[in-house]
Amino acid sequence: MNSQIALIQKIDALLPQTQCGLCGHRDGCLPYAKSIVEGEEANKCVPGGQPVADALANLLDRQQLVAEESVWPIQADGRPQRMKAIIREDECIGCTKCISACPVDAIIGSGKLMHTVLTDLCTGCELCIPPCPVDCIDLVEDLQPILNSDTRIQEQNDLRQRYYAHIQREEKRRLNRKGPVVRAEIDTELFAQFSAQSDAVPAIKVLEKPKPMAVQQDAKTTIELAKIRTQIKKLEKQLSVREDQTKRNQLEELIQKMADLGA
Ligand code: SF4
Ligand code: SF4
Ligand code: SF4
Repeated sequence: MNSQIALIQKIDALLPQTQCGLCGHRDGCLPYAKSIVEGEEANKCVPGGQPVADALANLLDRQQLVAEESVWPIQADGRPQRMKAIIREDECIGCTKCISACPVDAIIGSGKLMHTVLTDLCTGCELCIPPCPVDCIDLVEDLQPILNSDTRIQEQNDLRQRYYAHIQREEKRRLNRKGPVVRAEIDTELFAQFSAQSDAVPAIKVLEKPKPMAVQQDAKTTIELAKIRTQIKKLEKQLSVREDQTKRNQLEELIQKMADLGA
C-alpha cells in the first residue's frame, strides 16, 4: 500500500496541478495519478502535453503514447499554450460563483462587489467560465516567459498546496452551505488519505456529516416542509442571479427551520 502511495506521489509530482479535469478526472491531478497506477493510459493530461506523457512513460517504463490534443497551439517547450482568465470587471455582478469554482483560489471579491483574477496564480483551467451567469470572463494568452524545470516544480507545489486548502474549505462549506454550489462535491476522502501520507501538502480532514434525525413526520409537518422547500428553491434561484442580504437571511432562517423540523 505504501509503495502504491509512493508511486502515486511520483506521478502526481509530474502532473501540472492545474486541476482542470481535462484528463477525465473531475477532481483533478491526484485521482488521475491514482488511476494511472491502476492501469489507465498515461497520455491524457491535456495541459501537460507530450512532455508530461513522455515523462510518465519513462517513470512507469511503459510505451510512449501521443499526448491528448489541446485546443491551444503548442509552445516552444512542447506543452500547449498557457492561458489566463480575465474578468471584464465592469460587467461582473459580484455573484461569487467563480470563487467556488476556482481550484487554486485565484479569484478575489465578495458578494455584490466586482471580482478580479489574481493573474499570477491563474492557471487558465477555465473552470470559472461556465458558472459565470453573465459570461464576463475571457481567456487570454499568458505572455510570461516559459517556465524552466525548477520554477515549474515550484509552481506545481504551490498549486497543489492551494488546491488542498481549497478542498478543506469546500469540505467545511459543504456541511454548512452558504451560497451557490457550482462544483460537484470533491472526493475528499482520497485527498485526505493521500495528504496523511505526505508532509508536502496540508493534511485534509474529512468532516463528519450530520446524521439524519429519525423523526417520524406527521402529515402537518410534511406539508410544512414541502412549503419551506419551495420557498428555499425560490430564494436560491433569486440569490443565484443577484445577492441580497435580506433574502440571504430569510434563506438561512428557512434552512434552520427545516433542520428544526428534522429534515
Ligand atoms: S492538469 Fe492534467 S492531470 Fe491535472 S486535472 Fe488537468 S488534465 Fe488532469
Ligand atoms: S481564475 Fe479561472 S481559469 Fe484561472 S485558475 Fe481560477 S478557475 Fe482556473
Ligand atoms: S461568476 Fe462572473 S459575475 Fe459572478 S462574480 Fe464571477 S465574474 Fe462576476
